[in-house]
Amino acid sequence: MKVELIDLKKRYEEEREDLLNIFDSVLKNGSLVLTDEVKNFENNITNYTGAKYCVGLNSGTDALMMSLWSLGITKGDEVITSPVSFIASVGAIIHVGAKPVFVDVKEDLNINEELIENAITDKTKAIMPVHWSGKICNMDKINKIAKKYNLLVIEDAAQGMGSYYNNRHSGTFGKIASFSAHPLKNLNAVGDAGFVITDSEELNDKIKLYRNHGMESRDNVKIFGVNSRLDSLHAEILTYRLKKLKSVIKKRRSNVEIYRKYIETEKVILPNENPNSYDSYVMFITLSEKRDELQKFLESKNIQSLIYYGTPLHLHKASKILGYKKGDFKMAEELCDKVISFPHHQYLSEEQIKFVSDSINLFYN
Ligand SMILES: *Cc1c(COP(=O)(O)O)cnc(C)c1O
Repeated sequence: MKVELIDLKKRYEEEREDLLNIFDSVLKNGSLVLTDEVKNFENNITNYTGAKYCVGLNSGTDALMMSLWSLGITKGDEVITSPVSFIASVGAIIHVGAKPVFVDVKEDLNINEELIENAITDKTKAIMPVHWSGKICNMDKINKIAKKYNLLVIEDAAQGMGSYYNNRHSGTFGKIASFSAHPLKNLNAVGDAGFVITDSEELNDKIKLYRNHGMESRDNVKIFGVNSRLDSLHAEILTYRLKKLKSVIKKRRSNVEIYRKYIETEKVILPNENPNSYDSYVMFITLSEKRDELQKFLESKNIQSLIYYGTPLHLHKASKILGYKKGDFKMAEELCDKVISFPHHQYLSEEQIKFVSDSINLFYN
């Protein structure tokens, strides 16, 4: 039995007819840039999340950059964030000219809110928590700290679509939040796409202008912007897939419960859900002893797995300019040596999950 980590090919098989119809309906209009499909998608996202505004963009990375930019974060400013994330979280801070300041994580791989106050300086402008694998950070505490020190909160909710805390959707806790619709996220386009949500009309207007060269109209440029529009074709596909998101997440949550039933070794720590949380499980990230050997063993059984990610952000070559060294964030470093994701997608059968679990149990016995 071969078990794949993700299964985008199966998804295409399932959706082929619908996707080809979408392709046809969008392309036959003869107009492909910032059409009603984009507006419609943005409305669907505000309905889904409860935010007032959504701006469709061409990636989650751009969504982060524009969130920072629209808040005026720039040279000389510091932004507190987590060393456990995808590199784009730090890259976005660097590219607006600001300085990322890391704060170590907790065992659940999210920023340790208890350590944030220690990292605040005169230059701190914002906190950017990352909801890793669709688990929302402790936003009550983070917002409390932000209020006390007058800081902005930008949520990196790239993985947060469909995640809730106290029945509130991720991305609705801070001033603005960015999302990714990369093919490996739960709500995914067929290429790169992203968006921001916010309750601020001012930020919404700014980013709408900025994503389209700062043009108020064809012959009227208000500011210098960029080209980061969400494609109409992607927008329509995302509208279609948004309708399925609840069932996709349900299936992913059920995968996790089935794994919980069959994985019997204590050498593998499975993700836990906090009270009042509803996690979307973008990845099924575990903490496993002898991780690299386990991965090789699973490979020999034709089971794919992924290390997501083995290097904390402060230890990349690119991060040298930030002046951090090994040992600065012990928890992040320790956990990055243990993280491994097992097959996890909406087409997995119980039999496949049992096979993966049995193989894991066998490795440790
Ligand atoms: C995927 C991801 C991003 C970047 O999103 P793209 O759409 O790939 O640009 C940023 N932050 C986190 C936490 C992510 O998982």
